[in-house]
Amino acid sequence: MKILRQTPLFWRLFFVCAAVTLVDGTLRTWLFLREERATQMQAIDLSITTTATLLGADIAELAITGDYASIQDQLRRRVTAHPMLQRAEWRLGKARLAFEVPPLRANYPAWFARLTPLFECTRTTQVSLGGTDYGTLILTCDPVHPLNIIWQRMVTQAGVSAGALALLFLLLALALRSSLMSLFRLTEASQRFITDLGTRTQVGGSRELRELGLAFNAMAEKIESTLAALQTTRAELQREATLNHVTLMSIGDAVITTDAEGYVTQLNPVAESMTGWSQAEAQGKPIDEVFRIISEETGEPAVNPTERVLREGVVLGLANHTALIARDGHVTPIEDSAAPIRSAAGEILGCVLVFHDVSEKRAWQTEIGWQATHDALTGLPNRMLLADRLDQSLARARREDGQTAVALIDLDEFKPVNDRLGHAAGDALLREVARRMQEMLRETDTLARLGGDELALVLSDLSGLDEAKGIFDRLLARLTEPYQIEDEEIRISASIGYTLFPQDNADGDTLLRHADQAMYAAKRAGRNRHFLFDAQHDMAQSQQRERMEVIRQALESGQFEMFYQPKVNMRHGRIMGFEALARWRHPQQGLLPPGTFLPFMEDHLMGSALGRFALDAALTQIAAWQAAGHTWEVAVNITPQHFTSPHFLTDLEAALAAHPQADPQLLTLEIVESAAMADLEQAARVIATCNRLKINVAVDDFGVGYASLTYLKRLPVDVLKIDQSFVRDVLDDAGDLALVEAIIALSTVFGRSVVAEGVETSEHGVLLMRLGCDVAQGYGIARPMPAADVLPWAAGWQPDPSWALWADTKWEMSDFPLLVAQYDHLRWVKNVINTLEGSRLTLSHQELVDHHSCRLGHWYDTHGKQRYGHLPAFREMYPVHELVHVTGREVLRLKEMGDMEAARAKAQELLALKDRILGFLSRLQTEVASSTHAPPNPEAGPE
Ligand code: C2E
Ligand code: CA
Ligand code: CA
Repeated sequence: MKILRQTPLFWRLFFVCAAVTLVDGTLRTWLFLREERATQMQAIDLSITTTATLLGADIAELAITGDYASIQDQLRRRVTAHPMLQRAEWRLGKARLAFEVPPLRANYPAWFARLTPLFECTRTTQVSLGGTDYGTLILTCDPVHPLNIIWQRMVTQAGVSAGALALLFLLLALALRSSLMSLFRLTEASQRFITDLGTRTQVGGSRELRELGLAFNAMAEKIESTLAALQTTRAELQREATLNHVTLMSIGDAVITTDAEGYVTQLNPVAESMTGWSQAEAQGKPIDEVFRIISEETGEPAVNPTERVLREGVVLGLANHTALIARDGHVTPIEDSAAPIRSAAGEILGCVLVFHDVSEKRAWQTEIGWQATHDALTGLPNRMLLADRLDQSLARARREDGQTAVALIDLDEFKPVNDRLGHAAGDALLREVARRMQEMLRETDTLARLGGDELALVLSDLSGLDEAKGIFDRLLARLTEPYQIEDEEIRISASIGYTLFPQDNADGDTLLRHADQAMYAAKRAGRNRHFLFDAQHDMAQSQQRERMEVIRQALESGQFEMFYQPKVNMRHGRIMGFEALARWRHPQQGLLPPGTFLPFMEDHLMGSALGRFALDAALTQIAAWQAAGHTWEVAVNITPQHFTSPHFLTDLEAALAAHPQADPQLLTLEIVESAAMADLEQAARVIATCNRLKINVAVDDFGVGYASLTYLKRLPVDVLKIDQSFVRDVLDDAGDLALVEAIIALSTVFGRSVVAEGVETSEHGVLLMRLGCDVAQGYGIARPMPAADVLPWAAGWQPDPSWALWADTKWEMSDFPLLVAQYDHLRWVKNVINTLEGSRLTLSHQELVDHHSCRLGHWYDTHGKQRYGHLPAFREMYPVHELVHVTGREVLRLKEMGDMEAARAKAQELLALKDRILGFLSRLQTEVASSTHAPPNPEAGPE
């Protein structure tokens, strides 16, 4: 069985088939033989019986006649006719006749005869006829004959079977062959794979075998790659280990490693020589024993970082100034770091200490340190050390509420000395200066040389300004004492600028800069003195700078836009144009007026930038409005600096060129007087160019500057714009009225047009018109508005009715008080009504209660009565005015009582009364005009 299991598959199959075939064949043969034998026996039996019967009958007949010869012949014939018969014998009595043939030759082997039992061979039959006995017939069969037949058949059968079997095996072998080939290949591949990992089998054969082949190849692939990876890893690990080892051995730093418990595992040669421990001795010793460290400064044992590294897994550096004590007690200053050694999983396996000898570095550092922080010539601290000391001093001042002075000292006549006597003398002088100063200073003060003849001084722990001043006084006195350099007596002085911390609450650098500024101030003020820096002044300046920067960026980033305020001709009720007024649309603070940014734009570049922006916006607007069918002028404000700058005309021309559709005649430039006055020639030239370009130039805020007649004569401006401060008070202030009149007169004389700005009420407008200024601009007409609002505004704009009323009337200045009365009345009513909104009452008690004491009342009783007393409207007005005061008082009383509702209702009545008064005043105006200067009739009043 075991052998079978070890036999190759083909042979196994073969044997099994052979065995089955054998058993089957044997069985079949046996059955075949049995059957054949029976058949043969039957055939023999039948043949003998037949032969015996026929032969017996023949013999009996012949025996009757005694024809023995024929009997003999019969016997012969029968025996030869039947191959099966071998012998035939007839006996009768003593007579015996026989014929026999020699036995047949056996064609079968002996074993076959043994296997197949012999047939019964002899048959004895009684020959009789008609009851008479004619002897006995003995027929003997040849047993070889049937056996030969059977054998013959069997051989044939066996041949067929063998053929079939051979065919079967052949087919079997063929069927198995391909499968077996695959298997063989697989086997062979497997065997080869052991030595050659690249071996793969050819995939073929039945499905299972193909799968097997594929599986084999995949497996081989996997194994090969895994092995390759393993090999690389191993090689790398090996290389790394070697490298690590070599590094460790050849590194200039000392390296000690410990295990997780802090016991030494390894020392490299440098560590061995520095600690005095050999690797063999140190191994397994606690780290503290091998790596003994102390603080260089105190000599106390220093904390070994290993324990913390192992406990917390952190990387640590040694405290500065740590020293290592070797086994023999030798002390070496070291620098080191300690780090945990971790497994790939992050587990702390130990600690690695890396350190090196820094003795050389220390010495070198000290040397370099001094050089780096001191001035070689004077031995004084340099700028670097000064900064350090200054910071310390400031920190102390902060801590202890002390004061620190930072001073900059510059020798006043050093350069001439240097030039005259040479550098050596200059150096000697500097050394002497340093010496003298240092003599006078305290331990805590720092005198430093910043370069050249510039020294800095930090005075710490001052009690206050006076102490500082005292020190600087003494220093200056000492420095002005004569110097003996190269047999020559030299005298110099110094300028000191200083600042005091924390009054000047800035950092060291800034303090030095401040001291520097103060020093320059001291120089400017005449040298040989000390100057305190003005922190407040500087703060304002720096804030100004910051603000300027913000504004500059806002302008650049498009946060600026132009608003437009209309300018109208009151007499004709026509819109003349607009003044472009800049606004800053601040992202957080909303819309900001120029007051918030213009003061910071005085810097000429900024002013120019705004000017360019304004010109561009104005020209864009002119073109847009022209396109909409309006020939409106647009006035642009130009800063004096921009206007007089050399590039102004370039800017202007560029703007015009950029807007060819805009008519330049519609552009007006507004410049304030001062600009023009600063450089008259230049201003005149620019204005002349503008004139050529057909651009109008207006003098803005006219009246507040230093306009002189000469200037006005020489500057070819087109328009004078009366400053709003005069316009505003023109109804109240006789002085302003006179000024406005004068300006208007001036403009007429010089042939310039005039515009009034700041026109807040229609009365202002009327008066200005009367005075000869028809063009006005002001809140009374409209406030500045975004460009987009202009067209809708213009479409809905109605000129004030009172302008028309007064426009055509030839009224005289003697009617002016009427106008003022009207204005006063409005103010009175407004004042009362505004108290309901929380405004303060500015009227005196008398003005409030007494209708003779208010300004309208005054006018009524005096000028009004004189000029209009004869008119009915004047008389009718009186009771209404009285009622105004009663009602006004009532409004205030109700408000006082807290009955706001009633107060408001009363206020409505008051407003109605106001309108009636205004109505009366208008009537007076028209009536007086139509009565063509009726003589004043003082008696005509109602009183
Ligand atoms: P300004 O040239 O005298 O312009 C008139 C100023 O008076 C404007 O103030 C205007 O809003 C205001 N105003 C107009 N009517 C009335 C009124 O009836 N009553 C009162 N109380 N004020 C009135 P705003 O817009 O604040 O401008 C102030 C100043 O800033 C301007 O004075 C002008 O000198 C300057 N400015 C405005 N825009 C620009 C600009 O784009 N460039 C330059 N360089 N300066 C500008
Ligand atoms: Ca203006
Ligand atoms: Ca103005």
